[in-house]
Amino acid sequence: MQDTFKPMEDAPPQLMESVFQLQRSTALAWRQSSAAERIARLQRLRQCILEERDALYLAFEKDFRKPRVEVDATEIIPVLEEIQHNCSQLKRWMRPHNVGRTLLTLTESASVHYQPKGRCLIIAPWNYPFFLLMGPLVSALAAGNTAILKPSELTPAVNAVMRHIVENTFRPNEVALFEGGLATSQALLAKPFDHIFFTGSPTVGKLVMEAASKHLASVTLELGGKSPTVVDASADLRRAAETLLWGKFINNGQTCVAPDYVYVHQSVKDEFIKHCVDVLELRYGDSPQAQQATHDLTRVISDRHTARLAGLLAHAVDSGARVLAGGQVDADDRFIAPTLLDHVPPSTALMQEEIFGPILPIIAYSTLGTVIDAINAQPKPLALYVWSQCKETVDALLTQTSSGGVCINHCVLHVAHGKLPFGGVNNSGIGSAHGIFGFKAFSHERAVLRGGWLNPIQLFFPPYTGWKKTLLGWAVKWFGR
Ligand code: NAD
Repeated sequence: MQDTFKPMEDAPPQLMESVFQLQRSTALAWRQSSAAERIARLQRLRQCILEERDALYLAFEKDFRKPRVEVDATEIIPVLEEIQHNCSQLKRWMRPHNVGRTLLTLTESASVHYQPKGRCLIIAPWNYPFFLLMGPLVSALAAGNTAILKPSELTPAVNAVMRHIVENTFRPNEVALFEGGLATSQALLAKPFDHIFFTGSPTVGKLVMEAASKHLASVTLELGGKSPTVVDASADLRRAAETLLWGKFINNGQTCVAPDYVYVHQSVKDEFIKHCVDVLELRYGDSPQAQQATHDLTRVISDRHTARLAGLLAHAVDSGARVLAGGQVDADDRFIAPTLLDHVPPSTALMQEEIFGPILPIIAYSTLGTVIDAINAQPKPLALYVWSQCKETVDALLTQTSSGGVCINHCVLHVAHGKLPFGGVNNSGIGSAHGIFGFKAFSHERAVLRGGWLNPIQLFFPPYTGWKKTLLGWAVKWFGR
């Protein structure tokens, strides 16, 4: 794995400025680009990704020992699928669509046209470094934009492959990738981009929005938060345990939509925990040594994040939490065993911060109302998961809470459904990604009205004589009825 303490060099400011300027004329030219031209760009990108597949596996191994299956399932395939979906639908999405007439525009025709926003900035986090940089790029290109990409400084090996892919597929005036940390991000954010697509933490999301406001750039913010899970007494407990633990421990819990903590009805809590412990042992081994030796667990991304997670865990245990499984930490290997906890006090940092690692608090509840109140007392989460066979439980959670997305008797999988909008709400995000929603995020919906053969509005041109006032008086009555 990479030495994550080595600070990454920031991209030279002059180079970023000259590329940004170069992209201006390309963005203007691409405003008129056809679906066929955009599809050709996406196909070139797909070809280059396929050629670099082996390099990506090695890079993921280097950065955080991510298993190949997870690289395929959560990084490469979602991007290829997004390209395929965009290529097959783009012509239809780009077509202007007519909207109906209104009383005031009876003789005019009206339509909505999709125009590229122009020069776009895409900033990505480290946890799915390929999917979260390339996925938005697919939408940006489909919508006809140029792009500058800024990956996270914590995945240098994956970044090197992505830079190679970008440089082999595009000229810098079309798409460019700049590596670096804070200075690179801030220098890019100071530029008057037409759209900023940011994926990362709510804290940095606020800074991005502030920077965007200086130029009134539009933003898509894909953020994080604590996504709750509710398992009620009617749930299929085995299936819930199997699927939830997959959603929690894939990428070692470093997933924006990972179940952060679980509320389980007190009448089935012991049985649910038994299933969870059993599933963990079957998947990753029944001793800390076996779990550390398996190749199926990604490592924590950096020493800093390992220390953060170890600190959260130690503080929870010191405050009275009981370890049901796991709990071992080997900081040198950036390893934290998949951990289940019981009796975690709500005031601990573990229950206040997004965990973003392989630790799952399990909390018993007796009435659904208290769970709903507790969820509503927190910022709106990115996802909410419900395990229940009871329509009333599901309906109550659907109608009385808010979250970016919901899975019923499943988890995490909504991210992979390219026909659903993916995004948060308020603290967990603004705007949506994927498929047509990603296309729209990078497009300006332009209202176009064409005058008809008659121009009835001329009846109301000045001077405002008495009969015009009478006519408008009737109109007020008509519209206000
Ligand atoms: P982060 O917010 O620390 O960093 C994200 C990006 O912003 C990185 O490229 C980083 O270099 C840059 N950055 C960091 N500080 C900055 C600053 N002050 N100004 C400008 N740019 C800055 O997030 P992270 O630690 O890389 O990722 C984890 C977070 O991302 C979690 O909160 C997680 O839930 C969230 N996330 C959300 C999604 C989603 O789709 N909603 C997906 C993955 C991760």
